[in-house]
Amino acid sequence: MVVGAMAIELDTVVVGAGPGGYVAAIRAAEDGQKVAIIEREYIGGVCLNVGCIPSKALIQAGHAYHNANHGSEIFGVDSKATLDFTKTQEWKDNKVVKTLTGGVEMLLKKHKVQIIRGEAYFNGSHELTVMGKDDTHQLYSFNNAIVATGSTPIQIKGFKFGGRVIDSTGALNLKEVPKKLVVIGGGVIGSELGSAYANLGSQVTILEGSAQILPNFEKDLVAVVQKGMKAKGMDIHVKAMAKEAIDNGDSVTVKYEVDGKANEIVADYVLVCVGRRPNTSNLGLEAIGVKMNERGLIEVDNQGRTSVDHIFAIGDIVPGAALAHKASYEGKVAAAAIAGKPAAVDYRVMPSVAFTDPEVASYGLTEKQAKEKGLNVKSTKFPLAGNGRALSLNQTEGFLRLVATKEDHVIVGAQMVGVGASDVMAEAGLAIEAGMNAEDITLTIHGHPSLGEIMMDTAEGVLGQAIHM
Ligand SMILES: Cc1cc2nc3c(=O)[nH]c(=O)nc-3n(C[C@H](O)[C@H](O)[C@H](O)COP(=O)(O)OP(=O)(O)OC[C@H]3O[C@@H](n4cnc5c(N)ncnc54)[C@H](O)[C@@H]3O)c2cc1C
Repeated sequence: MVVGAMAIELDTVVVGAGPGGYVAAIRAAEDGQKVAIIEREYIGGVCLNVGCIPSKALIQAGHAYHNANHGSEIFGVDSKATLDFTKTQEWKDNKVVKTLTGGVEMLLKKHKVQIIRGEAYFNGSHELTVMGKDDTHQLYSFNNAIVATGSTPIQIKGFKFGGRVIDSTGALNLKEVPKKLVVIGGGVIGSELGSAYANLGSQVTILEGSAQILPNFEKDLVAVVQKGMKAKGMDIHVKAMAKEAIDNGDSVTVKYEVDGKANEIVADYVLVCVGRRPNTSNLGLEAIGVKMNERGLIEVDNQGRTSVDHIFAIGDIVPGAALAHKASYEGKVAAAAIAGKPAAVDYRVMPSVAFTDPEVASYGLTEKQAKEKGLNVKSTKFPLAGNGRALSLNQTEGFLRLVATKEDHVIVGAQMVGVGASDVMAEAGLAIEAGMNAEDITLTIHGHPSLGEIMMDTAEGVLGQAIHM
């Protein structure tokens, strides 16, 4: 049924309400645009509904359960906990996800962004149709568009999603804690969810195709995470090729090969997280001249502008890491470009964080990348064991490393594995972005005792003036 044959006019339209889209919409509205946002499923996108946020909630629940049973004896706290996983899931869905997505909807309304529910399809370079529920269609015309349609899990041969073969969304919404869980793909998502379920009591096996889990992080960082995983009884197989899953009704048999040798494991569920593909195929974009690469990623310039001048693309549908903070950042740049401001992306700091046990974070350049760029750099490490706060938390595994130029000690990269890495490293981001050197960090008074002091101690090490090492 066609509802509106006449197009409703919009200034800027944003397609997709994930961390890219909603941030772009709010910023465009703040810059004086009349904005509408179109969303076919859920406000907040993957990140808030079935990604970053619910995964962090399950990780936290895993810590609470694991520590109650295993992690507190050293403090003289002896307890044996039970787990009501229905309550865990209710807390995650109702108190965490709904609070946040409700908040985003409120923010959109506060900024007078019109929320349009339905699936968008571009029928022209200045016109799109929104298909709502009940087969309703409405036409909209626009001056500028920001496309932020995100990504979907990749399905691999032999592992058709359904039943006991689950994707990350399935893993986040399980009704029970699996006794045995096989994870195909030891990237950030697989390692985080695998660790969360190991803490919740599952026997977890990770099968990773490449030579190391968390392949985007340096070996010495990953070694610390892997040691922690093994201590929790997680089984990790690298260079393992997943072949097939056979659903037995009450279990699943996973066949895989290591060095050409056939193996199999029987588990309750197999979680497949080998990557995500961009949602760019059914949008009508190619027909209006928006160029894409062979992987379906949209080609953009340094403002997020596609090959069609007034159409921008951001987030998981453009090249680069598929991360929420990247999507939001690109959303702000695109909105600024539409407002005529001289904005451009600068990925110098792009953070990469894995919320494993312990956490890993990498900002800016690794030593190898810095050297490849021709920079004359040196790395300096500081162990968490030298930090009073880490000791009092009984979490001394790990280290922080600063990569700084030899001559003037300018910080160009930082990597950390250890408790609190996701937060401690924000300071490294600021240092790299602002072009600070190690002395700037050492001259900043850091509260004591705090994990933040690790940054100051490492910077002192860069200057050859370490106090605590
Ligand atoms: C389990 C998991 C954990 C993650 N954890 C982290 C993390 O800790 N940190 C981090 O930085 N990143 C994390 N990510 C990645 C992060 O979720 C994504 O990078 C981020 O959501 C991308 O944002 P986006 O705005 O590009 O797209 P999305 O969040 O995917 O949003 C796109 C939206 O567009 C809508 N849409 C698509 N097509 C149409 C259409 N035709 N019409 C209307 N609407 C449409 C979709 O319904 C969706 O809501 C995680 C991902 C997963 C799966």
